[in-house]
Amino acid sequence: MKVIKFGGSSLADANQIKKVCDIILADPNRRLVVVSAPGKRFSKDTKVTDMLIALADAALAEKDYTEELNAVVGRYESIAKDLGLGNEIIDEIREDITSRVTSSKNNPGKFVDLLKAAGEDNSAKLVAAYLISIGVDAEYVNPRTAGLILSDEFGNAQVLSKSYNKLARLAKNRKVMIFPGFFGYSETGEVVTFSRGGSDVTGAILAAAVNADIYENFTDVDSVYAANPKIVKNPMPIPMFSYEEMRELSYAGFSVLHEEALAPVYHKGITVNIKNTNNPSAPGTLILPSLALTEEHQKYPVVGIAAAKGFITLHVQKYMMNREIGFGRRLLQIIEEEGISYEHTPSGIDSISIIISEKAYDDDKFDRIIKTIYSQLSVDDVQLEFDQAIVMVVGSGMNRSVGTLAKATQALANANINVNMINQGSSEVSIMFGIDSEDADASVLALYNAFFDQD
Ligand code: ASP
Repeated sequence: MKVIKFGGSSLADANQIKKVCDIILADPNRRLVVVSAPGKRFSKDTKVTDMLIALADAALAEKDYTEELNAVVGRYESIAKDLGLGNEIIDEIREDITSRVTSSKNNPGKFVDLLKAAGEDNSAKLVAAYLISIGVDAEYVNPRTAGLILSDEFGNAQVLSKSYNKLARLAKNRKVMIFPGFFGYSETGEVVTFSRGGSDVTGAILAAAVNADIYENFTDVDSVYAANPKIVKNPMPIPMFSYEEMRELSYAGFSVLHEEALAPVYHKGITVNIKNTNNPSAPGTLILPSLALTEEHQKYPVVGIAAAKGFITLHVQKYMMNREIGFGRRLLQIIEEEGISYEHTPSGIDSISIIISEKAYDDDKFDRIIKTIYSQLSVDDVQLEFDQAIVMVVGSGMNRSVGTLAKATQALANANINVNMINQGSSEVSIMFGIDSEDADASVLALYNAFFDQD
C-alpha cells in the first residue's frame, strides 16, 4: 500500500485535480490519499488557507466578512464547476464554512484552527466527489472517525501516539480513501491543526500507521536540488538523500517537506519519494535510511547546502569558565525558566554562545535573562547579536573524506564572508557556519560553486 500526498499547487484548480486523479488511478496501490487545501494558481494568487485566515481575522475583529466568505467559497465553486460537479457540493461547502465562521469565538486560537481546517476538509470532499462522479470506488475519510488524535495546541499540534493503532485500520479499507491533511481532533473533540504546511505531517503519520511501502509526496518540482534555485541558477538535482541529510537541510530552510514530517516515517524506515504532479514520470527524489544510500551517493562529501536567517546569538564570556562545574546547565536553566528553547550552543574554554530563534525574542524576557546571567553566574560579559544566519553544508559522505571543512572555509574566505561560528555535529552529517544574515545568499552561492560547479 502506498500513501500519497498532494500539496496545494496540485489542488489549485480543476485541471490540477484531474492530474491528481490520473496519478491516483495509475497505480492500484495508491489507496490512501492526503490532500492539501487549494494553493496558488499563479504567483500572485492567494492560497485558500490564507483566505480562511483572513476570514477568521475579519470575524474576530467583528467586521463584515461577506467579501472574505464569498471569496473562499468562490474558489471551491469554480473548481467544482470546472470538474462538472453539481451545485449540491457547493451548497454543502458554503454551509460548512458559514457554520464554522458563526461558531463561538471565545477561544481565538481554536476558532482560527476550525476555519483553517476547512481548506483541507472541503478539498478532500471535492476530490472524493469528483472520483465518485467518474465511477471510482472512492470515499472521503474524516480524521476524527479514522482516529487522528492530536495535542490541543492550536496551530501547532503534535500527534498523540494512541492515534497509530486506530489509524492502522485504514489499511483494511479497499476503497480509494481521500484524507484531508493539516488537521486532526483533540481528545475533547476540538479541531486542531499542525503548523503551516502540516499536510506533509498527516501523510507521514498515515504512512507510518498503515506501514506503507512508500510515502509519495507530490509537489510541483521534478526533484530536490542541492541548493535553493532562487539563489543558485540551475542547481544540481539530487536523486536521493538520507533522512538525516534531509532533516539538516530542512532545518536550515529547504522547504521541500515540513520539518516534522520525517519523524514518523524515519522510525519505521519508510521511504519518501518527492515527485512532481506536473511531470509524474520523472523519478523525483528519494529520502531513505542511510544504509539504503547508494555507493554513488556516498562518494560525494556534500549533497546539499542551505541557509536559514532569523537567529540571535547570546554570547557569554567568563574567565576560567571551563573549570566551573555546572556552568552550562545553570546558564541553560536561566533560558529554560523564560520558556525559551535554544538551537545550538557552540563553546570555547572561556565562552559559550547560545543560538536562539528570533521568533522567541522578547525585550522583557531577554532583559531578565541578561540580568540573571550577570547576577547568578558572575560572568565577565554578555552580548546579544541580532540578524544571524546559519549555513548548513550537508552530506553523509563527509565523514569518509578529508578536507571538506577546509574547502568550505576557503570558499567563504574567497567570497569575503566572515564566519562567526563553526559547528560540526557528532554524526558528521553536516558542518554549520554562523554568519551575518546579509551574507546568507552569498555563502550558499560560494559553497555551491566550491562543491558542485566543478567544471
Ligand atoms: N494548507 C495548509 C497550509 O497552507 C497546510 C498544507 O498545505 O500543508 O499551510
